[in-house]
Amino acid sequence: MASSEGPAPSTTAATPAAAPTDTASSKPQQHQLPVAVVCVGMAGSGKTTFMQRINAHLHGQKEPPYVINLDPAVLNVPFESNIDIRDSVNYKEVMKQYNLGPNGGIITSLNLFATKVDQILGFLEKRTAPDPEQPNKKPIKHILVDTPGQIEVFVWSASGQIILESLASSFPTVIAYVIDTPRTASTSTFMSNMLYACSILYKTKLPMILVFNKTDVKDADFAKEWMTDYDAFQRALAEDEESNAFGGVEGEGGGSGYMSSLLNSMSLVLEEFYTHLSVVGVSSMTGEGVDDFFVAVQEKAKEFAQDYQPELERKRHERDEQKRKTREKELDKMMKGMSMDNSGGGAAGASGSGSNVVRPPTDDDDDLDVPSDDQDDDYADADDEYDREGLQARYAAAAEAQGSSTMDEASFAKYIHSQRG
Ligand code: GDP
Ligand code: MG
Repeated sequence: MASSEGPAPSTTAATPAAAPTDTASSKPQQHQLPVAVVCVGMAGSGKTTFMQRINAHLHGQKEPPYVINLDPAVLNVPFESNIDIRDSVNYKEVMKQYNLGPNGGIITSLNLFATKVDQILGFLEKRTAPDPEQPNKKPIKHILVDTPGQIEVFVWSASGQIILESLASSFPTVIAYVIDTPRTASTSTFMSNMLYACSILYKTKLPMILVFNKTDVKDADFAKEWMTDYDAFQRALAEDEESNAFGGVEGEGGGSGYMSSLLNSMSLVLEEFYTHLSVVGVSSMTGEGVDDFFVAVQEKAKEFAQDYQPELERKRHERDEQKRKTREKELDKMMKGMSMDNSGGGAAGASGSGSNVVRPPTDDDDDLDVPSDDQDDDYADADDEYDREGLQARYAAAAEAQGSSTMDEASFAKYIHSQRG
């Protein structure tokens, strides 16, 4: 663990900007890597508004972030994004072609986009590495990622996992779990939200910041109190029970007694979980609390480097090897398949060249040397192959990862243990 701490980041300026041939994470200290902040949260919790706010904040500090929108269904993105899923996947067209409803459309769009994740990382790494020709150019310090409105689409899908893991394998990555504070003010909604956050922490195994949003409507102090003071939560529970908030039969306890004892037990379980989180209250509307948020981001980025990265790297090596094997197998299968039928089509081929559903992702950055035409051709060639076998290979890898999670060893217990040590 200590070995990854190498030379201090302050040597950045003196380090000759080595060609960024490898993924940055394997040489963590060559230049200060930007922190990726991934905003997740229930629909309507204010992820997009929060993104807009922190984006504006960073622009105000003359530290423009690199912004990615992963919500295919959003009509207007209120911030300028460098990469937008809507540029490469046509959500409406996906719904039509695959005969899907809105949610299926979002999932499929994300799946299609996930097949391009290597290109996205290519953009990111190129853009955030120091440019030897422009040594005075300000480095990018933050990558901001907005996710689809429905949280489960991103957090519980194979493609969400692929995107998140790829990101975390190249950059310190922090989850910002955005919470609608006014709607979390009762003990039961609070508890549901905390359980969800806990499951995401467990699933992603990335450092997490709880962002209690909309503090202009309702202050987040109650939540902070419930998270730090067990008795305070007990009192609130008792109050809710008294006021019959759980809907039991008055005087009889009934359902209400069950509910409060359930919440009581859960709060005990979650006590441990709370100690690993940073908690901030913000208002995306007024900008209150945004400074605190960025302090928390720095804290969690440090935590990432100390606790998460070594484990991630070890697992990544293993996974790369696994992926290579799967790819070879798939390629083999494909070659056999092609000798029988070369006419294409079928669901898996729908993202192929004839389709107008998926385009390669673009990096809208003005000052970025966007791939020239001939590079584009390279991409296109690579894409065709990638689409056919890459998608399957990735899904196979992801499916496997779901069975025995790619980061199994970084188990929650171990994580908690390391936190204590
Ligand atoms: P998303 O689905 O998580 O991306 O949520 P949006 O960013 O689209 O926000 C959902 C609704 O919450 C919108 O009507 C926003 O105007 C509102 N909203 C977001 N942040 C705040 C806030 O800090 N204060 C208040 N009062 N409303 C907010
Ligand atoms: Mg949104």
